[in-house]
Amino acid sequence: MAHIHIVGAGLAGLAAALRLADGARAITIHESATQAGGRCRSYFDATLGMEIDNGNHLLLSGNHAAREFLRAVGSEDQLVGPERAEFAFIDLATRERWTLQPNDGAIPWWIFQNKRRVPATKPLDYFSVLPLLTAPKGATLKQAMRCEGVLWERLWQPFFLAALNTQPEEGAASMAARLLRETLAKGGEACRPLVAARGLSTAFITPALRYLEAKGVTIRFERRLSGVTVAGKRAAALAFGPETLALGDEDRLILAVPAPVAASLLPSLPTPQAFRAIVNAHYKIVPPAGLPPILGVINGTMEWLFAFPDRLSVTISGADRLIATPREELAAQIWSEIRLATEVASPLPAWQIIKEKRATFAATPAEDARRPPTQSALANLYLAGDWTQTGLPATIEGAIRSGFKAAEALLTDRR
Ligand SMILES: Cc1cc2nc3c(=O)[nH]c(=O)nc-3n(C[C@H](O)[C@H](O)[C@H](O)COP(=O)(O)OP(=O)(O)OC[C@H]3O[C@@H](n4cnc5c(N)ncnc54)[C@H](O)[C@@H]3O)c2cc1C
Repeated sequence: MAHIHIVGAGLAGLAAALRLADGARAITIHESATQAGGRCRSYFDATLGMEIDNGNHLLLSGNHAAREFLRAVGSEDQLVGPERAEFAFIDLATRERWTLQPNDGAIPWWIFQNKRRVPATKPLDYFSVLPLLTAPKGATLKQAMRCEGVLWERLWQPFFLAALNTQPEEGAASMAARLLRETLAKGGEACRPLVAARGLSTAFITPALRYLEAKGVTIRFERRLSGVTVAGKRAAALAFGPETLALGDEDRLILAVPAPVAASLLPSLPTPQAFRAIVNAHYKIVPPAGLPPILGVINGTMEWLFAFPDRLSVTISGADRLIATPREELAAQIWSEIRLATEVASPLPAWQIIKEKRATFAATPAEDARRPPTQSALANLYLAGDWTQTGLPATIEGAIRSGFKAAEALLTDRR
């Protein structure tokens, strides 16, 4: 029986396995770490004395592949969010608070209602985003739309910064347009904010591993792919340190590792070269009653404040400017902002700052152009990962779609 080897047990690799695991194929997942999940997982943080996620992850209800993944492994109920789309905001400079409430349905009548839209904006302002939808290939947001004004500062800038993890002015208009089409343009039902309330591993990773094992998939940890031997137009063998695994004529390989790893294994492969950081801050404190589960923050260092039952957590995207800032300084600065934004008055509680330097590839037109397609130049090798050509920025949704795409390509490829 032909063997399918999947390298990397992040969401992309797991999604590929999920699509292929029907019991009729031999599938092995090789993962270099001691656990699965890659950039989307939970871990026990000794400083806080609790399990937290490697980063706060926000999804939207329009992320259909992510929801399909969860449905398949029986954990869709782990994603929680409000019944209707709503996003609470505070502007720390003016202390104004508002709640953005897009209505269900494709006709956006919410922009005509004062209470549902951003304060100090007019309905016509919202049309400023439309040129994105017809922007030429290779355009940045700044080339495609007006990146200034109240609505930009209070809606489009935070929305696109969070989604692209890149300063939006330099972001690719094509990816921003894709996000708009799949979420806001479809109406409120496609943009309810969702989080894995009991952790990313409980929602995505543990149930997926359980499902795959039940389907006979072998998952091997601490197995780092260190080399791919190419013969003609095929991957002929895989090296895992001193061990060599020869690939049979019918065997297939899905490479679902991060971009820099793929580039080192296959030097001729085009891959994104620039990355952007994300900083997360966690504070061990029970959130005050009435705090929204997610709060958008304008004019602060912090951008999004998440209220989990046992902690307050902050996300800062495109955070390269903060990488050199001492952790103690960041923890104190963000805590002072939390005190302004909430009813919390207590001194700095136990905290943790996590700086992910290469959280995602930079979602610029130049990096987008370096993303390779699913089918590689080698007949038996397929690529998956949030950095491959999905049309989306590096997100859970993009990673899962890339895995589904790789599985479908493998099943239909007649090369
Ligand atoms: C801090 C942070 C916050 C984020 N926030 C959000 C968010 O709010 N919403 C959202 O949708 N997305 C968010 N993302 C992005 C999302 O987490 C990623 O897009 C997604 O997890 C990428 O999955 P992947 O499978 O493509 O890659 P990875 O998760 O990187 O998986 C690759 C796997 O390959 C393994 N590997 C590496 N090298 C080898 C090797 N040589 N041999 C074998 N295995 C190897 C790795 O250990 C890893 O398990 C965030 C990411 C970070 C880091």
